[in-house]
Amino acid sequence: MIQKPKGTYDVYGEMGRKLRYVEQVFSALMDRYDYEYVATPLFEQSNLFHRSVGDSSDIVRKETYDFKDRGDRMMTLRPEGTAGVVRSYIENKMYGDIDLPKKLWYFGSMFRYERPQAGRYREFRQLGVEVLGSPDPMMDAEIISIPVNLFRLLGLEGVKVRINSLGDQESRNAYREALKDYFRPHLGELCHDCNERFETNPLRILDCKVDGNTELMKNAPKMEDYLNEESKKHFEKVKEYLDALNIVYEVNPNLVRGLDYYTHTVFEVEASVEGFGSQNVLCGGGRYDLLVETLDGPHTPAVGFALGIERLLTALDYEELQVGEEKELDIYVIPLSDEDKGYAIGLSQALRLSGFSVDVDSLNRSMKSNFKQADRKHSRFVMIIGESERENNLLTIKDNHTKQEYKVTIDEIIDFLDEHMDSCDCDDCHDREGE
Ligand code: AMP
Repeated sequence: MIQKPKGTYDVYGEMGRKLRYVEQVFSALMDRYDYEYVATPLFEQSNLFHRSVGDSSDIVRKETYDFKDRGDRMMTLRPEGTAGVVRSYIENKMYGDIDLPKKLWYFGSMFRYERPQAGRYREFRQLGVEVLGSPDPMMDAEIISIPVNLFRLLGLEGVKVRINSLGDQESRNAYREALKDYFRPHLGELCHDCNERFETNPLRILDCKVDGNTELMKNAPKMEDYLNEESKKHFEKVKEYLDALNIVYEVNPNLVRGLDYYTHTVFEVEASVEGFGSQNVLCGGGRYDLLVETLDGPHTPAVGFALGIERLLTALDYEELQVGEEKELDIYVIPLSDEDKGYAIGLSQALRLSGFSVDVDSLNRSMKSNFKQADRKHSRFVMIIGESERENNLLTIKDNHTKQEYKVTIDEIIDFLDEHMDSCDCDDCHDREGE
């Protein structure tokens, strides 16, 4: 038997329902924030990620799925969403739109060759948001508010927001030099990767999973002491706007995030769910004012985030939160014999096009097991199609809530369903209304 590739999973059944629900809630939220949907290719020219995510990042150094296409071009399955969106922004000249800043959201698979474990996959799905064209710290706060409000809408309470500022380029350069001076005498104590990071991107040393919690790390120079006036002002404003939005946050001076392109604000949202384990960062993002220029676009300050769907769904499961309504069917159709099937599917098509959800028995079940099936599907009505129904165009329909049976002509069926679908006198519906 052929099995799925390591680190991937199939979406089906309950998982499919949950995934669609989260996507729908997010999409509706994005409409309220007035963001536009964007979809970019699952693979891009490898260069895009080398130049954006950065050659010094773990993602590009060790985790990309690279391949040569049949035309001998180096391609990479996207490991994250921002690079593709920025490429699209530049290539489609979105910067020329009247409607700026461009406020975009996306949803889709990302691919990283990581060591698979709980909450860490090789194909995983992200919801992401990018705002291109506004330098205003108000947008940093808006971006942070989006995942926070998504979690609120989904009922997920225990989340923590951590923020930091990496400052503008000048501040970052000054900090980089200070870190190098600090770590230089201690290179022998640092892991192999950190020794490489020392040369390529010393900020990353602070993010190291191996050396992360040592005294050496804790006593390292802090970014906030190297922020220039402009950067300090930006960060203060972000905090002020987060207060205005009633968002509780913690400043974590060692938060640097894994990608090379961040400037000013970086943030993470963590699920403080008991028993959740180490992969508890649900969402991360920040400002990337220099990335569009790095990719040959015009100067465009930008800010965004990406949120891992799998971890979000796990957090919802841990909190035992109901994700979406249980699926219900409007009408379950039972053709009594093969001769009745053509009529049954013709009628079902008409009902579906009129807005009702319909399923038709295709396994020639007995009447008893068909009624059981209708119950399993929580079908509101059951419709039986036999010879007499066909010949007289008079349908037999049973209301599964009230258990009442009706005879309705084909011309009146839509009106009948419209009338009965919303109102129900059965005890269950009464109880639900009273809740
Ligand atoms: P990043 O793009 O690394 O900033 O990650 C943003 C979010 O995507 C993380 O907070 C996770 O929720 C999720 N994520 C990143 N890598 C993985 C992975 N390998 N498997 C599952 N989720 C991931």
